[in-house]
Amino acid sequence: MSRTEITPGQFTALRRGLQEREAEIIERMLQQPDYPPLPPCPECGAEVEQIDSMVEPPSFGLPEQAFLINVKPCGHRLRAVVDLDEPT
Ligand SMILES: [Zn+2]
Repeated sequence: MSRTEITPGQFTALRRGLQEREAEIIERMLQQPDYPPLPPCPECGAEVEQIDSMVEPPSFGLPEQAFLINVKPCGHRLRAVVDLDEPT
């Protein structure tokens, strides 16, 4: 499956979802089986069991910063260019 480009807005929403989930886990001191669900896949909306994201190695001549995101189990492979104007 090829990598799908998602918008900076979609990426921001995904990151926000992950942060909120993290905050809820910490705040309520949840144990593993009670963890809230991960945000849905931005591409297909499927339920997500695992999200792996990494910074894309910079390529020569491309000034943009991008993240690569692999979603399981739907198997979507996403790429998001970070919007540098967006507060993190
Ligand atoms: Zn998906």
